[in-house]
Order: sequence, then C-alpha cells, then structure tokens
Amino acid sequence: MAQKVLIVYAHQSPCSFNAGAKDAAVEVLKAKGCEVTVSDLYDMKFKATATAEDITGEVKNAEHFRYAQETKLAWEEGRLSSDITEEQRKVTEADLIIFQFPMYWFSVPAIMKGWIDRVLTPGFAYSQEKRYSQGMFKDKKAMLSFTTGSHEPMFSANGIHGDINVSLWPLQNGILHYCGFQVLAPQIFWAPSSQTPEARKSMLDDWCTRLDKLMGEEPLSFPPLDYFDEKHFQLKPDVAEKFASQEFGPALGVHLGKPLPHNSQVKAGV
Ligand SMILES: Cc1cc2nc3c(=O)[nH]c(=O)nc-3n(C[C@H](O)[C@H](O)[C@H](O)COP(=O)(O)OP(=O)(O)OC[C@H]3O[C@@H](n4cnc5c(N)ncnc54)[C@H](O)[C@@H]3O)c2cc1C
Repeated sequence: MAQKVLIVYAHQSPCSFNAGAKDAAVEVLKAKGCEVTVSDLYDMKFKATATAEDITGEVKNAEHFRYAQETKLAWEEGRLSSDITEEQRKVTEADLIIFQFPMYWFSVPAIMKGWIDRVLTPGFAYSQEKRYSQGMFKDKKAMLSFTTGSHEPMFSANGIHGDINVSLWPLQNGILHYCGFQVLAPQIFWAPSSQTPEARKSMLDDWCTRLDKLMGEEPLSFPPLDYFDEKHFQLKPDVAEKFASQEFGPALGVHLGKPLPHNSQVKAGV
C-alpha cells in the first residue's frame, strides 16, 4: 500500500527557500509512489489561537474555560471545529509528517505552533498512559525540516546561540516524541539567504537524495517510558544505577548532570 506523507508547511511566499524544500519533497515522494498531502497553513489562513471557538456547541465550563479539558471532551463527542477535525484526519492517515518551516525565535512560526496546540489535542494525540514510547502515534514517523537565518557554527556548543541539540529538544522530545512519533533526524538548511545560488541548489539536491531513502531511516533515540516510575515519573533507581558508570545519561534532557550526549537530536544512533 502507498505510504502517506503529510507536509505541514508554514511560509508566506511561494518564492521562498522553504517553498523550494516543500516542493522538492512533494516531487520526490510522489515519484516514489507516496501519497502526499500538504497543509499550507498561511494559504489556509489556519487559526493559530487555541480558544473556545474550537469547540462547537456548549463548553462545559464557560466561566473558567480550560482548553485541554474542553478539547478532550469535544474530541470524544466529535465536537471539535471542522478545521481541527480535518487536520486530525490527515494525521490519522499519515505514515510520516514533515514539518517544513523557517526557524522563528528558536522554534516554529506561531501559525505552526497553533497547528500543534489545536490539532494535537488530548485524547486524540496523547493521554497519561499513551505518551512517549507508548504514545498514540508510535507507528508513525515525524520530522522537522527547517531553515535558519544563522550559520551552523552559531548554533554549536560554543556558539552564541548555544547547541542546536538543546534548541531541538523541546520540539522533538516535548511535542513529537511526546505524542509517540518516531522522530527522524531534522533536515536543517543553514542560512539559505546567505548562501550562493550554487550552495542553495546543492542543499536542495542533498535533501532530494535524503528524501529518496527517508522512509527507511532509523529514528533518533529517546529513553523508553518504562525507564520511569509510574508515580512520580522519575528515572527508576536501577536504570539510574545502570547509567551511573556511563559517560552520558539516558538522553539530552535526562542527562543526570553528566555532559550532554553529542548530536543526539540531530543524528540517529547517538
Ligand atoms: C520572526 C522571525 C524570527 C526569527 N528567528 C530566528 C531564529 O531564532 N534563529 C535564526 O537562525 N533565524 C531566525 N529568523 C530568520 C529566519 O529563520 C530566516 O529568515 C528563514 O529561515 C530563511 O528561510 P526562507 O525560506 O524565508 O528564505 P528566503 O529568504 O525565502 O530564501 C533564501 C534564498 O533562497 C532563494 N530561493 C528560493 N527558492 C529557491 C530554490 N527553489 N532554489 C534555490 N534558491 C531558492 C531565495 O531567492 C533567496 O535568495 C527569524 C525570522 C523571523 C521573521
């Protein structure tokens, strides 16, 4: 059966480098027989704010509106707004989701953060029992593909912005892996605006080469859920003991006060 890819894309201009990266992905993946869907968020005028209008009909507690509780109930009762329901349908069908965007403030643009806030609702995308390695989407893959304004050395361990691995942890662990996705290594296009046309072409050529084998890639490593106790969600003593004698802790975030594992958020098998 054809593999289904959803590209969640956030750029205002079809002449942008991001558009080029998105178009390359559509072309290569379709040529490989994948079914590709693009959610072009600016073109869709996707609503970025998480509000009570995301629920159709009565909310449970209008006086003290709580987005997570209300959207969980609305999802159970099929009362989420149609734009959210449509994106959730695309997520359900997808084998792989590619988030294509320019880095804004060390993160995703607001419109994409709005997609994350509104589409990945509790019940649909996660629950207390179904998260991280036991997450809802553990049979799906997801990845970040993004451009920066900064050059790569600025995002290194001794660069002015700090280690890119640290910047990636909240997005890749706190969102994608939290929902269970197997997270593929990010595709980072460093500072396309400052490159020569030849260098930009070469960046897109490398992306096309990678896309050709993307579905078979090994995902990044994250600590499994059973490393943590079920009461306080702390690393189990026997697991902590296992890592006590090792150079690194179980993950970049769960580092046990040890040096951060190098490149664990940008390379599989680290
Ligand atoms: C609010 C905001 C916050 C930001 N925060 C950060 C941050 O925290 N860290 C950081 O590093 N940067 C940051 N930036 C910078 C931003 O990430 C970059 O401007 C952006 O990533 C550049 O990508 P682009 O697609 O917009 O490039 P564009 O400017 O659209 O394109 C770059 C060049 O590629 C050319 N091009 C377009 N299509 C193709 C193609 N198909 N083939 C070859 N060349 C092509 C274009 O003509 C242009 O010359 C921020 C920017 C904003 C607006």
